[in-house]
Amino acid sequence: RAKAEGKDTYRYFEASMGAEARDKRVMEHELRQAIARDEFYLVYQPQKEISSGKMLGFEALIRWQHPEHGEVSPAMFIPVAEDSGVIVQIGEWVLATACQEAAGWKNPLSVAVNVSAVQLHNPHFSRKVHEVLVHTGLAPGRLELEITETALVKDMPRALATLRQIKALGVRVAMDDFGTGYSSLSNLRAFPFDKIKIDGSFIKSVDTNGQVAAIVRAVLGLGRGLGLPVLAEGVETLGELKFLDAEDCQIGQGFYLGKPGPIEMFSELTGVPVTAPVQTATAGRKAR
Ligand code: C2E
Ligand code: MG
Ligand code: MG
Ligand code: MG
Repeated sequence: RAKAEGKDTYRYFEASMGAEARDKRVMEHELRQAIARDEFYLVYQPQKEISSGKMLGFEALIRWQHPEHGEVSPAMFIPVAEDSGVIVQIGEWVLATACQEAAGWKNPLSVAVNVSAVQLHNPHFSRKVHEVLVHTGLAPGRLELEITETALVKDMPRALATLRQIKALGVRVAMDDFGTGYSSLSNLRAFPFDKIKIDGSFIKSVDTNGQVAAIVRAVLGLGRGLGLPVLAEGVETLGELKFLDAEDCQIGQGFYLGKPGPIEMFSELTGVPVTAPVQTATAGRKAR
């Protein structure tokens, strides 16, 4: 078979879509090694109060620098990690790393961490969260866990018990990708969420598409009625932001408000210093 790098890369990406079980197993194996090999890192995306533009915190998003294939999107590898169960270890790494980094910021900004269904249904999950908070010293009120609706449906009593344990720690929970699941409304009633994150697909062209606008207004009304703040994901334009502000949507996230980036990009707020390449070069020369 042809072994040109381009072709291998293509097949590799295809694997996550279930095209070939063998390639999927290769990726699973590489995912298991990736933590020890230090191939994962986190980027952070701002979450801002819409009315004032004030920075509230960041969502931590995982990135995988694959030794041969370069950057692999989480949309590609998270499903493979979930299928194989390795998401439990990866998710623990994300949680521990995000909490540790956030604990060192000079401002008490919040940090939001994505939690997959497999993690949520792991019987040790809330204990892990507790341990990470104790170990990193992060104030529980600064941590928010983002959970999608699909994570809840597998075993609803267990998911509810876990959410209650997490909330008892003082950690908040946000419903992620709201509107893309199956039974949003009953889930909002049954589970003790602290925030609704409207999926980005409903924010795109919200200012120019009447149907989308009607849906977003309805979700904002739902948030008001339930007493839950609503965050709009995927805000890409000033027009979208203005619409959301006029409709009293409290929180925004998206390329227009800030792209995800390494935490050094946000030094002014976090106090995390930018590693100056000039200094590194100087230090290198001195060392030699
Ligand atoms: P999500 O949790 O809904 O995260 C938001 C995604 O939207 C991110 O993609 C972010 O980069 C992207 N995004 C933000 N602003 C905009 C915008 O204005 N326009 C558009 N088009 N996209 C925007 P990313 O980083 O590729 O992550 C994709 C998904 O992968 C996440 O969706 C989440 O479900 C999952 N994911 C990412 N990191 C983790 C993680 O650490 N653990 C788990 N379990 N899942 C993760
Ligand atoms: Mg999220
Ligand atoms: Mg989302
Ligand atoms: Mg999503």
